[in-house]
Amino acid sequence: MNRTIQNELEDIRNRGLLRSTRLISGRQTARVTCNGHDVLLLCSNNYLGLADHPVLAAASIAAIEQFGTSSGASRLVSGTMELHERLEAAVASFKKREAALLFNSGYAANTGIIPALVGRGDVVFSDRLNHASIVDGILLSGARLVRYPHNDFARLALLMEKHAKGRSLIVSDGVFSMDGDIAPLAELAELKRKHGALLMVDDAHGCGVLGEQGRGSAELLGVGGDVDIQMGTFGKALGSFGAYAAVSAEMRELLINRARSFIFSTSLPPSVLAASLAAVELVQTPEGDELRKQLCVNTRFFRDGLKEAGFRIPDGSTQIVPIIIGSAVTTMQFSDALLEEGLFAQGIRPPTVPEGTSRLRFTMMATHTHADIAGAVERIRAVGRRLGVV
Ligand SMILES: *Cc1c(COP(=O)(O)O)cnc(C)c1O
Repeated sequence: MNRTIQNELEDIRNRGLLRSTRLISGRQTARVTCNGHDVLLLCSNNYLGLADHPVLAAASIAAIEQFGTSSGASRLVSGTMELHERLEAAVASFKKREAALLFNSGYAANTGIIPALVGRGDVVFSDRLNHASIVDGILLSGARLVRYPHNDFARLALLMEKHAKGRSLIVSDGVFSMDGDIAPLAELAELKRKHGALLMVDDAHGCGVLGEQGRGSAELLGVGGDVDIQMGTFGKALGSFGAYAAVSAEMRELLINRARSFIFSTSLPPSVLAASLAAVELVQTPEGDELRKQLCVNTRFFRDGLKEAGFRIPDGSTQIVPIIIGSAVTTMQFSDALLEEGLFAQGIRPPTVPEGTSRLRFTMMATHTHADIAGAVERIRAVGRRLGVV
């Protein structure tokens, strides 16, 4: 039978995997208006609440007035603007690396960096739960993909003995986006040294949140110097948009020459660069410390509450808190029922997570109040009981 678009959509729908977007009015704050109703936002990566911070907004507006609304072209074509360089210098200093290079998004970074480093004849060792943009970068590179079981560095050691060849790259999320656990970076660094491999960490969920002054997961685990490419994003805790690679000066030069998403795409505009710059500065101030502390307190309160209510949540300590449910259909029923109760939490299904591990993925924000969280736990428990999940 001819596979029509309609058949294909039916098939997705029948498997409980149809996706659609929900309309949010106003800002991405702890409470939002979703389809006209006031709901508690429990699925945003705006962990520190910086997405509507007045300092970022003012910086962004001032940049538009001074530099206009667009960068006009790729940086290799119409030139790097001052703000690109200032932001790169700020990121390099923040991450304590020689240099940094900006990318237009985390997705663009991963699909640009990985093919810039490896190709046919090379091997990439990738955690099974790595973000889709990493997997896409590897596929695009043409290098051999060797996936290792989640965080299983003993198994990775065996796989490297067997398969390391040409240039080897180990790549891992710093904080796993759908599980909320932290990668064993010290062990990965040891394997990288043993095999003369490169190590890349995608810290989209660690940057701004973990480690001293929010420098990220590599800083937290004391291995910053061993990570050849620390990639991170401005769109999550930093409340802006875009991404960076914190690297050596040599590596930066290679990426400028080889990363196609850098070369062939119009660069980030002044408004975005200025907001990112303000955010990188802000997270290193006492206000940043205060926000991280509040995020920690909120996270602990929420995690403890869900455990006490009897939910099975994977071990971890970060602001990403999943309840693993299994069935995609039940997961979406749970998510829909929560929305009726005034809680906006996203159900996550394949292909974002492996088959049979559909889940509700909750994220904490520093700007949630104690009462918000207590009320949320109560309602999550009630809906969980009703659906027989707990
Ligand atoms: C969100 C995310 C990305 C993509 O970053 P964007 O800036 O949103 O494109 C990449 N990697 C991980 C682990 C992420 O969670």
